[in-house]
Amino acid sequence: MEFAILSDSFNKMETTRKRLELTQFLVELFQNTPNEVISKIVYLLQGKLRPDFEGIELGVAEKLAIRAISKSSGIPIKKIEEEYRIEGDLGHAASIVLKQKTQTTFLVEDITVERVYETLFKIARLEGARSQDMKMKYISSLLNDASPLEAKFILKILLGTLRLGVAENTVMDALAITFSENKENRKILQHAYNVSSDLGKVAETISRKGLKGIEEFEITLFNPIRPMLADRVKSEEEAIEKFGDEFAAEYKLDGERVQLHIEGDKVILFSRSLENISSYYPDIIEKIPKTIRADNIILEAEAVAINENTGEFLPFQELMHRRRKYKIEKAVTQYPITVNLFDVLYCNGKSCLDMDYKDRRSKLEKIVIEDNFVKYIPMAIVKNVNEVEDVMENSINAGSEGLMLKMLDKPYQAGSRGSHWLKLKREYQNELGDSLDLVVIGGYFGKGRRTGNYGTLLLATYDEDEDKFTSICKVGTGFTDESLDQLYQILNPKVTIKKNPRIDSEMEADVWFDPELVIEVVASEITLSPIHKAAKDKIRKDAGLALRFPKFTGKIRIEKIVEDASTNEEVITLFKGQKKVAHDKSLI
Ligand code: AMP
Repeated sequence: MEFAILSDSFNKMETTRKRLELTQFLVELFQNTPNEVISKIVYLLQGKLRPDFEGIELGVAEKLAIRAISKSSGIPIKKIEEEYRIEGDLGHAASIVLKQKTQTTFLVEDITVERVYETLFKIARLEGARSQDMKMKYISSLLNDASPLEAKFILKILLGTLRLGVAENTVMDALAITFSENKENRKILQHAYNVSSDLGKVAETISRKGLKGIEEFEITLFNPIRPMLADRVKSEEEAIEKFGDEFAAEYKLDGERVQLHIEGDKVILFSRSLENISSYYPDIIEKIPKTIRADNIILEAEAVAINENTGEFLPFQELMHRRRKYKIEKAVTQYPITVNLFDVLYCNGKSCLDMDYKDRRSKLEKIVIEDNFVKYIPMAIVKNVNEVEDVMENSINAGSEGLMLKMLDKPYQAGSRGSHWLKLKREYQNELGDSLDLVVIGGYFGKGRRTGNYGTLLLATYDEDEDKFTSICKVGTGFTDESLDQLYQILNPKVTIKKNPRIDSEMEADVWFDPELVIEVVASEITLSPIHKAAKDKIRKDAGLALRFPKFTGKIRIEKIVEDASTNEEVITLFKGQKKVAHDKSLI
């Protein structure tokens, strides 16, 4: 397939932020895409080469790209840099300078999607001393044969600056329309995506085998399953109201969620955001196979830092020390953990997702043998408020955050915040009744002791309808020197020159970040706001919602993907809830 078709399509997509229009452009593109390349196109339009969990990064530096543009076109480096300064985007700058190309090339080879993809893949694989020269060779040979528009998008993909604002849901809408002529079939596609986390594979299956192929889609060992999430409740009473008379109460441990894929001695660990985190936990890799009585299995657990002397659970932040590339052995002994299992999703070649919670739990207890390192998360079947409170007290005393309440007769709903799991945290008794997980979208440079760091951050909620991140507050309190440093390290690589199209905010910021990081805040109140965009027009026309006196809790939620952040719907519920409390109080 000609790469020109793809770059024309990308060019159109760049002109709009409207979901319906994007969907339409995608449908037109998919209609012109052969089966063999559709998965590649799905990855490329998200600026990727493979699904995230494979961790393939292009990692091309701007300097190298500029040299490659110059080499392939004969245009001096200075001129390219000058245009880049004006445009703020190297891909765009390249397309402008390449239009004035002086060097003529002979024997120009056609550029196909396959060729671009294979070359990018080779570039991503290059390592070692001569890799820079080789990268340069590959890039300049592609640019040599590319039109200015093609060059623009090749560079954007290479540099990680392609931001078409196409969310996974939009791709699935377009696939459903193209291959089944019914957008409603998105739900079936969604299931296939939830059990594979691989949108390219889903696209290829529907393109080759139609909806039937998607309906037969199965879990593949070592491909992560998108995790099931929980709704919140504020009190034991509310849980009883929602769940009725008998359900499971598990400790809610404050660690890192880990999905374990195991076959013999081969073990791969995925985080909640489906990143391969095996290298941080060599102790799990070594010890878990000995505890399993099955040929292959997918388990879910919370890895929790512990005090080795007392066995007490330590807070999530302790695990951050393990997120390093080097000297991991030292971190393993310094920050010991236990693995606390709470679910089984697949066993001996078969999915367990459709089994009831209680059957999955008893299977888990049969197939895994507990030891000092691997345990089942403590669980009790409860019937009334007193029993829930009792488990809650034990859980808090053991050093955990609260409870996860689970319906006994329900399946595992991959990738969704179903209402079959509820979380009940002790800290909910704060003023707002809840903490919020917000996405960092902008930053402001600090002054005084905070010089050189971002002293204040601009935060956003997730707008599920529009698939955008809507600003809700600036936060400048609750930071320690250590957390400011840590945030700077994490955020600095996410700085962008232009605001990401998924950000919806009219605030000014010193820098904009790609929306990729979630942090936890508490606040005293939610108020109507003329400037923030969260839940805009939902409560009152021309007003959004904002947090009053927000404070960072110290929790950087690296394990969360941004679509898991607090949604506008949740903020509206909290807003209405606080009004009710205020109203009730005024009656007393
Ligand atoms: P939250 O991060 O507050 O939305 O709570 C959900 C997270 O709690 C999950 O992603 C897990 O990492 C964690 N968790 C702790 N204990 C459990 C449990 N017993 N069952 C499920 N998730 C748990």
